[in-house]
Amino acid sequence: MWDNHRMQMFKDLEERFLRYTGYDTMSAPELCGMRRPTTAGQEELLEHLAAELRGMGLDVGYGSEKVVMGTLKGDPSLSPVAFMAHVDTADDVPGNGVKARVWRDYDGSDIVLDGVTIRTSENPDLQLYRGGTIITSDGTTLLGADDKAGVAIIMEVVGYLSSHPEVRHPDIEVFFTPDEETGDGMSAFPFDQMRSRICYTLDGGPEGEVEAECFNAASALVDFCGEATHFGDGRGRMRSAVTAAAAFVSMLPGSESPQATDGRYGYYAVERMEGTTASARVELLIRDFSSDGFERRIAAVRAAAEAAALMHRVDADCSISVSYRNMADANRKRPEALEAVFRAASRLGMDMHEAIIRGGTDGARLAEKGIASPNLFTGGHCYHSLTEWIALEAMERSASLVLAIIEELGR
Ligand SMILES: [Zn+2]
Repeated sequence: MWDNHRMQMFKDLEERFLRYTGYDTMSAPELCGMRRPTTAGQEELLEHLAAELRGMGLDVGYGSEKVVMGTLKGDPSLSPVAFMAHVDTADDVPGNGVKARVWRDYDGSDIVLDGVTIRTSENPDLQLYRGGTIITSDGTTLLGADDKAGVAIIMEVVGYLSSHPEVRHPDIEVFFTPDEETGDGMSAFPFDQMRSRICYTLDGGPEGEVEAECFNAASALVDFCGEATHFGDGRGRMRSAVTAAAAFVSMLPGSESPQATDGRYGYYAVERMEGTTASARVELLIRDFSSDGFERRIAAVRAAAEAAALMHRVDADCSISVSYRNMADANRKRPEALEAVFRAASRLGMDMHEAIIRGGTDGARLAEKGIASPNLFTGGHCYHSLTEWIALEAMERSASLVLAIIEELGR
């Protein structure tokens, strides 16, 4: 029976995942550019993973870029394929000292942790796993399924393949990265060492989802420079930077803000503003799924900054940098990446659907290089929070899907 067979294939998945959650790998955005990885626990886990991969017989590289790269040799006549996950966890809530709790024969009721409750009313997907195994933290930290579930799934599949040489597969490249949550993880990625033109990231959420589209993303720094005088002598002389900054922000449409948009709507998000008469700065994010919409928004920000500056007789300087681009184009150019997912899923009798990410993944940075990088589910829910949870059965099905994708690519 497929189910029993699967349980045997991935028998170590639970133990492996729990072991990885024990590493203190919360990343520290404030240390980006100063330390890589930003925290020592990430380095410990990366070194541990490198050793585990070597133990499975893979060729492993782990250098100053602090990315673990492993290759499991396969049939050289097939195109190589890569899988990637990140070892760090978010810092939105405490992420170190994780004490995972395992809820076997889950009865379908609210899960009460220390200080917080995972409510079935807010988590209807819990009902899918009645009778199964749910893993949570103790309620004082996040769990870290984002993205240690992805790490564990990749390790388990590679472990299976390394001990089953009869399965025909291409060369499999494995990448484990630090500091994804800080947005800086890919800044030192060894792009030249990735041979695969398809790299699946295992960094998704609910079971059955594959994500092949994300935002185009930019950040903008708008600086206004005015002239301060004694307010009593201000008439005709004082030029207020902070007033111009406020005018600029009020020109951004409220109906195109994060709090007013969902689905495929893009937005402008003011992250921070500060200022005085003499100078003011606005930091904002620009997000849009379409390239045209993205360019329009960038032009609109520039025009609004200029208009605010003209109206208030100050100088404005607008610097905009692109953070990542929608991976949809790269995924469309290599349709075999998604096709393999859906063929594998239908062979397993698994319902899969495409979802869009109102954010980005490390895969979006690969897409810029023309590498198709769909993001596969791991089964986790409520990421970056104290109520994060994952069902072991969903992780197993994710691992089964990865293995079936590899088999599809080996045909
Ligand atoms: Zn993640």
